[in-house]
Amino acid sequence: MSISKIDHNVAIIGAGWAGLSAGATLVRQGVRVTVFEASRHLGGRARRVSLNEGDAAIALDNGQHILIGAYQETLKLMRAVGAPPGHLLERIPLELRYADGFHMRAPILPYPFNLAIALFAAYNLSFASGLAAMRFMRALQALKFRIVPDRTVSQLLAEHAQEQVLRTHLWEPLCVSALNTPPGKASAQVFATVLRDGLTGARHNSDLLVPRQDLGALFPEPASRFIHANGGTIHLGAPVREITHDGKAFQVDGRPDLFSRLILAVAPQHATALIASLEPQCPALGAVRRQVEQLEYEPIVTCYLQYPPGVTQWRPMLGFTGGIVQWVFDRGHLLTPDPYRKPDTPSSGLLAAVISASGSHEELDNDVLAAQVHEEIKDVLFEPKGVKAVPRWTRVIREKRATFSCTPGLDRPAARTPLGGLALAGDYVASDYPGTLEAAVRSGIAAAKAIGVT
Ligand SMILES: Cc1cc2nc3c(=O)[nH]c(=O)nc-3n(C[C@H](O)[C@H](O)[C@H](O)COP(=O)(O)OP(=O)(O)OC[C@H]3O[C@@H](n4cnc5c(N)ncnc54)[C@H](O)[C@@H]3O)c2cc1C
Repeated sequence: MSISKIDHNVAIIGAGWAGLSAGATLVRQGVRVTVFEASRHLGGRARRVSLNEGDAAIALDNGQHILIGAYQETLKLMRAVGAPPGHLLERIPLELRYADGFHMRAPILPYPFNLAIALFAAYNLSFASGLAAMRFMRALQALKFRIVPDRTVSQLLAEHAQEQVLRTHLWEPLCVSALNTPPGKASAQVFATVLRDGLTGARHNSDLLVPRQDLGALFPEPASRFIHANGGTIHLGAPVREITHDGKAFQVDGRPDLFSRLILAVAPQHATALIASLEPQCPALGAVRRQVEQLEYEPIVTCYLQYPPGVTQWRPMLGFTGGIVQWVFDRGHLLTPDPYRKPDTPSSGLLAAVISASGSHEELDNDVLAAQVHEEIKDVLFEPKGVKAVPRWTRVIREKRATFSCTPGLDRPAARTPLGGLALAGDYVASDYPGTLEAAVRSGIAAAKAIGVT
């Protein structure tokens, strides 16, 4: 087959948020795409997990996800593929509320008024601490949010004299939630970028966007329908083991189809073998593979606890300090269209406790971990009359390589590679964002551009 006939036929390996973003972007521009996904499910590290508990089929997520208003590209692409964010996401003005009583809420005002009012009106925060936090933000602004040389978040906070209460209730939880890396090893530069976009940008940038439906319905399934409707193909259960390139076209696993371009949109730990399979044809890819190999990873553990219907948490999203639990989400509240929750809705009484980044909890087995989570949260649960808040079942989902470890000065590979027509996509690809949905979506869009078919 001549190169002109196979022009604009793009293979995408991986149907996570990055691969699906690349696919949706390309089919919108009239480009033919074929997506190969190893598993039988769409969404990769942000996917629905179906569970059979007794007679009931329950849709969980592999981990509770939160988006923020600053995820502009994700929100735009959701709209484009027919997944309206207004219906699918609950928009909550930035509010950090902890079980220990600490509480701050940002009013819908432009920066710096939003932050100043949130800090000075915060419950359990002194005026002096509020002032120190504002000074810190002003100092970052004066530096144009550039931290040179890069250092850890803990060092940055110490240099700017941020007291313990600010660290434990504001900066460190923001760092761990956004970078999924403990402050002692997290990049101050990436953290500063997150603060810039989240806190100082447009008024709604800092809003928390909490999914009202499972992650599959949020983007992967609408994106897949969109790709099919626009002439694309998605093969599920199709793990790719080898890619070859004859100087003109790509082939995957020796299949007959020829592709003029290829986007590798798998997680970094899966990318290395596939990059290596192309090295005989393009030895310069060895440097890219080594860049990917040097990445380290951080886990996220999600513990689901199903309490009897009607049991609720004091607030839909609540922070915890001093134990292993960081955040708990009341899915009964968040996934129920009726804000006054009916006890007979499937997710009533279902709580998701999130433990991000590495820590001592990794040593605990699932039953011990779930029992400890219950101990830490039981005092913030409301029990309807005659009902005891004891979990009927628990499920622990461990994502050992949830994201790359976002450390100072990390050298992340670029979307463009030394082999013309081959681009990388994924949350780990070079950008100023940490490993998040927004980074994955942006990388997919960037890879679609980098292969130069539009
Ligand atoms: C528990 C958890 C909680 C998180 N919470 C948040 C959050 O609150 N907010 C946020 O923004 N981000 C969060 N993240 C991060 C976010 O989920 C990821 O950044 C994002 O999903 C990464 O998408 P991706 O497309 O880059 O990679 P992946 O999702 O890893 O997609 C890669 C795909 O490639 C497939 N694949 C691998 N090898 C092959 C092969 N050989 N052939 C074919 N297919 C292959 C995989 O099956 C997978 O579907 C969280 C992640 C986890 C795990």
